[in-house]
Amino acid sequence: MIIMNTDATQEQVDRVIKEINKYGLRADMSKGEYKTIIGLVGDERKIPFNHFASLPGVKEAIPIETPYKLISREYTKFFKEPAEDKLIHVGSVVIGSNKPVYIAGPCAVESRTQVMKIAEGVKNAGANILRGGIFKPRSSVHSFQGLGATDWKKAEEALRWLNEAGKQFEMPVVTEVRGEAQVDLIAEYADILQIGARNMYDQDLLTTVGKKKKPVLFKRHFGAGIEEFLSFAEYIAAESNKNIILCERGIIPIGKGKSYTRYILDLGAVPAIKKETYLPVIVDPSHAMGRSDLIFNMSCAAVAAGAAGLMIEVHYDPKAALVDGSQMITPLELAKVIKACNNIYTTVASATGVN
Ligand code: PEP
Ligand code: MN
Repeated sequence: MIIMNTDATQEQVDRVIKEINKYGLRADMSKGEYKTIIGLVGDERKIPFNHFASLPGVKEAIPIETPYKLISREYTKFFKEPAEDKLIHVGSVVIGSNKPVYIAGPCAVESRTQVMKIAEGVKNAGANILRGGIFKPRSSVHSFQGLGATDWKKAEEALRWLNEAGKQFEMPVVTEVRGEAQVDLIAEYADILQIGARNMYDQDLLTTVGKKKKPVLFKRHFGAGIEEFLSFAEYIAAESNKNIILCERGIIPIGKGKSYTRYILDLGAVPAIKKETYLPVIVDPSHAMGRSDLIFNMSCAAVAAGAAGLMIEVHYDPKAALVDGSQMITPLELAKVIKACNNIYTTVASATGVN
């Protein structure tokens, strides 16, 4: 990381960037109110820090060891308070501020009527952002793959329905991008691009999505450690896109016999990740539990653990859903979750002095 003097000129900044490129690395610019910080993207071992420290306009040149330095609190402490959290603005919604954000909607968009009806339901329940899958990651090729699998025209039509439902009920929309080929199309219609758990390790997808400069909802793989999760989020940040919403959605169950939940919701990861990074962390209890009867409790627990929001699958008639019906709750149940979670948030925040 290169910290420029407060009065460094643009020429001096440009010179540093040029030198960084000369060593085969890329520069990540962060302009604070008073300081310009240039992060290094690439193998820092190639960088002669003493040389950089002696360049005109440079205040300090320091190596940073963590694999997720661009998103780490360590990085921001040089130009703002380390405790400061990143606020992500999507339309009029702010993620990471002093109010939990609720993302809700069907697992998959199935028809215009379905997504419209669910959008109305979740909006009335208090949701802020509408979700709905069009390209679904599925374990079996024989199951419903989302309308995106039909053909490109159907995918676009479904995206239009989602977008329209979002506009009509004043909610930004999020949908999953399952592969690089889908990025351009989805970015035209979605306000937030989701990278699903199964694709957390797809660094080419992460880079392509990052380049779109739209907020990204980034899910933890069910087998990934926290450091690994953050290290892959860094691929998005390395494209100068720090609008990343991290999402804990459960890890692989342990032991023999029935687990009774689809995954283990790792709520300890929430406060632990928040110590490491300034990015907001949300929780998806739906895919973690796989059961609608456990969503209320785990939502409450997630907010108590410090989650900046929740992503919950909702359907007016869960049994009729083509995917994930067993974990979906109704709009009425969502309203109860939101009410309880807002109360819990206020209690926890006032006790910890956040508010
Ligand atoms: C989803 O959110 O639609 C989804 C498939 O979740 P995950 O990637 O966490 O399994
Ligand atoms: Mn689902």
